[in-house]
Amino acid sequence: MSDTKQQVWVFIEQREGKPADVSFELLSKGRKLAESLRGELKAVVIGHDLQDLAVETFHYGATEALLVDHPELEHYSTLPYSRIMSQLVDEHRPRIVLFGASFIGRDLAPRVASHTRSGLTADCTDLQISDVTYLRKDYPELLLQIRPAFGGNIIATIICPDSEVQMATVREGVMEKIPLDRPVEGQVTQVAYTPEEVDHLVRIIERHHEDAKVNLKAAPIIVSGGYGMGNFQNFQILYELAHAIGGEVAGTRAAVDAGFIDHARQVGQTGVTVRPKLYIACGISGAIQHRAGMSDSNKIIAINDDPEAPIFSVCHYGIVGDVMAVIPMLIDAYKHK
Ligand code: FAD
Repeated sequence: MSDTKQQVWVFIEQREGKPADVSFELLSKGRKLAESLRGELKAVVIGHDLQDLAVETFHYGATEALLVDHPELEHYSTLPYSRIMSQLVDEHRPRIVLFGASFIGRDLAPRVASHTRSGLTADCTDLQISDVTYLRKDYPELLLQIRPAFGGNIIATIICPDSEVQMATVREGVMEKIPLDRPVEGQVTQVAYTPEEVDHLVRIIERHHEDAKVNLKAAPIIVSGGYGMGNFQNFQILYELAHAIGGEVAGTRAAVDAGFIDHARQVGQTGVTVRPKLYIACGISGAIQHRAGMSDSNKIIAINDDPEAPIFSVCHYGIVGDVMAVIPMLIDAYKHK
């Protein structure tokens, strides 16, 4: 076993056995961090009947999956999950522990960080390993936790130099999911779970499933509208364009605030992060908080009547013009293609 201090851990989030994409994205990033630390990547899988999921983590470079399997752990529950995670962290003292910034990760990570007296940075957009001995000679290689701050106006790099274990949450879609060509020969280590009274302080009486309204992350094409669409009525033309080219419709926070579109479809720092093959930005100025959620799109087309709009600095193709003149022409062109 390698030096336990050089381990990078990823908490594998799942619902009913279905893993969250963010966990594989974090494994892909964790692999790089572990390489920089000359350490090992490990996955922590908690739930029931998850042997296959534990093995799946080897496709992303985990050399060991710590599997805590018990019928009582089938569904996420704050108290047992945080107790198990905290005990594992205390026992092994990994250098880095990563969680998705999902409902589950946001619930779990602060509890584990607090129990294990570890540093935690939420909503990171990048993670790197750096030698910061120039700050203080006794600082080891540290995790640089990079995230927007002050309303997205600056990008902050945060370090937790006094914390032996460094933790971070990262939102889904921010990092790339990169499976290996061939899985590593990893090992699944069963970790025993003995239920304790404290685990049953909260009892789930009923579960209610609601289908997600839209999955922007999976959409290969996104037609996105901003405040420049003018009004709710004009905004509807974006659905026509999306329909013609097989895409989903999204919007900016200004469009959401104006009631043009539902918040579930907001792209950006406080919305969803997307990286589709094609992102068409219509009447969007390109504020940094919006760009944070879409600038990694493969190709970006921007339509804006202001040639100075910041969106033109991130797009691959720009059309200077009135959205209500340009979009009908695009629809027409696609329909008659
Ligand atoms: P505007 O900035 O008003 O831009 C409208 C654009 O439309 C202009 O460039 C204008 O030239 C153009 N236009 C007007 N009429 C036409 C026309 N007829 N034809 C063509 N172009 C036209 N924003 C997000 O989007 N997502 C987020 O997640 C997000 N999170 C935030 C978090 C924080 C903490 C803060 C402080 C802000 C956040 N914002 C977010 C808001 C962000 O700062 C911007 O205010 C917002 O993105 C602007 O939206 P917009 O581009 O639609 O509107």
